[in-house]
Amino acid sequence: MAFQYPENIVVAGWMFCKKHGREYCYDFKCTCDHRMCNNTVADLDNVFQEEIEESGFSLDDRTSLNVYELGATGVAPGSEQYMCSEHRKKDCPVCFDWAAIVGREIAEEEQREKWLEKRQKYLERVDKD
Ligand SMILES: [Zn+2]
Ligand SMILES: [Zn+2]
Repeated sequence: MAFQYPENIVVAGWMFCKKHGREYCYDFKCTCDHRMCNNTVADLDNVFQEEIEESGFSLDDRTSLNVYELGATGVAPGSEQYMCSEHRKKDCPVCFDWAAIVGREIAEEEQREKWLEKRQKYLERVDKD
């Protein structure tokens, strides 16, 4: 059996490709996008309803998380269960607090947009003078 992946792992309810730990993986053998499903699992549409309406942030296009970069590691060699490397806790609610991680991205995006708006207004003002 030469072709083994795509294989996925589930960490704290969210799915990632096993080989790279990505939600959205562009590797030609993975080519998966778990973001939409993961959003649904965490009910992010409802959690961030207000923020999304205000900023137009697209949950389906958010930055793909990499669960290995966040410290996920098998609880035992070959295990299908994952813990964080910081607390060595399975499905750690601190390290794998998906809503909090996405919330930070939305907040950063809002800040950036506010700043761009401010700069735009400034430029318009300067233009008139
Ligand atoms: Zn992958
Ligand atoms: Zn942890």
